[in-house]
Amino acid sequence: MYYKKIKKLIIGTNNQGKVREIKNLLPEHIVLDTPKNLNIKSPREIGSSFLENSLIKAKYFSRKAKEICLADDSGLEIDILGKLPGIYSARWAGKKSNFKLAIKKVYKELSKNDVNWKNKIKCRFVCALTIYWPNKKFYQSEGVVEGIISKKPNGNNGFGYDPIFIPKGYKKTFGEMSFKKKFKIDHRYKAFKKIKKFF
Ligand code: IMP
Repeated sequence: MYYKKIKKLIIGTNNQGKVREIKNLLPEHIVLDTPKNLNIKSPREIGSSFLENSLIKAKYFSRKAKEICLADDSGLEIDILGKLPGIYSARWAGKKSNFKLAIKKVYKELSKNDVNWKNKIKCRFVCALTIYWPNKKFYQSEGVVEGIISKKPNGNNGFGYDPIFIPKGYKKTFGEMSFKKKFKIDHRYKAFKKIKKFF
């Protein structure tokens, strides 16, 4: 199948941590817009899965900017919390995107569940990506990185829940890893590999 290579797009997120990662994943020659540059606010995320929400964002930003959009919806699923915060990962941080608060909430919910830290708390980051074209065609992919919750937050790198996520096979949290290391092993990278052919 022939894919017309994308030369210009809008990155469909107002989360600057994600913008940075997505910019690093895309080839340098691609001309990039962001909702921040074009002063476009984010849509309400009313979907019931990462894939649905990433489609909502991609469609919305593509229509507003009248160009191709690459949007991400992602979050942290913790097994013993019934996969929460999951699609509510951003909302757990409140309107002011306070991730110290969101992380506190994770530990509070875990302690409610009488967590035995001898058992590792299994979790995963999930990322759904959608490319949406102005002709209404779209293409989606998903990437997952498995891991465990750190006993306490560690590291100041990255964003969101990075300080409490230890990827499988590593001892450090994403918050302790260099940006270069994290963005080559994470959920966004894995989802991106599946849509690379468009760029
Ligand atoms: P949304 O996709 O805009 O609904 O937001 C997803 C939320 O999940 C982000 O605000 C982060 O809190 C969290 N999240 C997604 N990806 C990552 C990541 O790579 N590191 C840390 N937190 C993440």
